[in-house]
Amino acid sequence: MSEEKSDKPPAGHRGMATRAVHTGERKPRQEFIPIATPIYSSASFVYEKLETIDEIFGGARSGFTYARHDNPTTTALEEAVAELEQADFALASASGMASLHLSLLAAEAGPGQRVLAARDIYGVTYKLLLEVFARQGVEVHFANFQDAAERQRELAEFRPNVVLLESISNPLLRVPDLPAIARETQEAGARLIVDNTFATPVLLRPTEFGADFVVHSATKYFGGHGDLIGGLTAAREEFRAVIKGYSKLIGPVIGPFEAWLVLRGLKTLPLRIERHCANASRVAEWLGGHPRIARVHFPGRPDHPDHEIAARLFPPGMFGGLVAFEIRDATRDDVFRFVNALKVCVKATSLGDVQSLVLYPVISSHRDMAPALRKRLGITDGLLRLSVGIEDAEDIIADLGQALQKQ
Ligand SMILES: *Cc1c(COP(=O)(O)O)cnc(C)c1O
Repeated sequence: MSEEKSDKPPAGHRGMATRAVHTGERKPRQEFIPIATPIYSSASFVYEKLETIDEIFGGARSGFTYARHDNPTTTALEEAVAELEQADFALASASGMASLHLSLLAAEAGPGQRVLAARDIYGVTYKLLLEVFARQGVEVHFANFQDAAERQRELAEFRPNVVLLESISNPLLRVPDLPAIARETQEAGARLIVDNTFATPVLLRPTEFGADFVVHSATKYFGGHGDLIGGLTAAREEFRAVIKGYSKLIGPVIGPFEAWLVLRGLKTLPLRIERHCANASRVAEWLGGHPRIARVHFPGRPDHPDHEIAARLFPPGMFGGLVAFEIRDATRDDVFRFVNALKVCVKATSLGDVQSLVLYPVISSHRDMAPALRKRLGITDGLLRLSVGIEDAEDIIADLGQALQKQ
């Protein structure tokens, strides 16, 4: 007698579909603690009693309910970044641009308000200010922050309520006098946003000088391995509710996988930065002695215009992992030949990865800039930016050397 086939579960059991959906889930496994925070890929979080969720939504207690508000993996990352940046809290988001956007909103860059930004900020930040904020009625001015008189005049006459700058600029690696700028901004009653992506908290913690918001593209040194897009804002307690509120409403949250990768990257950040800095110093010194190189831009060199500021602000012997240099009398064709001949250094738009990455500003970050302005800023056709990786310095130098012979 053959057994009759049936979709019906045995008595007392739930159906196949119900079991597929629920079995194994939502069991508190509290007898151990994972050594590394897991990836909480969960949209919502449940509790034994509805009363608990009611208390969380009502603000009577903290807890996780919905991942656009909070996610345990992201919270672990935020706690780590707040600690490194010596800030009261940090908020992660889906990209550096989202973190800048949220910070500007939280700093009250709204209609009728005024933002003063450094002239040499990241190109996309420049566009964010002009194409999103200025269009919504924010007045935006740019100034050369390396010129104290120009900066102070703008602060006095334009009377911004938000000041925005980068702690190391791109691509000429200028280092603003952050303690002086923070003091002047405070005296002017404005809020200060510092994009600390290039310096990282290993070199500089802007909150120590009174910055209100510290922003990072976690895509760069925080992640460090070129495998994610993410951003962070670290700030003072008074801005927690307002920036969190904007994040919940707009929803540019980082995914738990990316948050986990950044958290993992942070564990080796000081080690990597130490190596990036040491390698960059060696590469800059070698480039400085090469007959085909007209100029090296590196804050660690005594001929850099901000060498004294960098030496005062950064830990001894550390000047960042970026080096810019100009190939002597190079045309675009020469630069293309040089870059195409590189074998260790990778042609990529990013920075801060373990690999050495080379960028040609004239065709990428500064492509849309008027040639006359580019020239005035010193971004010539022969200028390249190298994000020095953590490879063996001799191999990076040998790679640059063989490529320079080819053009
Ligand atoms: C890359 C970068 C950004 C933007 O970050 P994304 O993660 O690409 O959105 C902002 N500021 C600086 C200085 C950057 O290098």
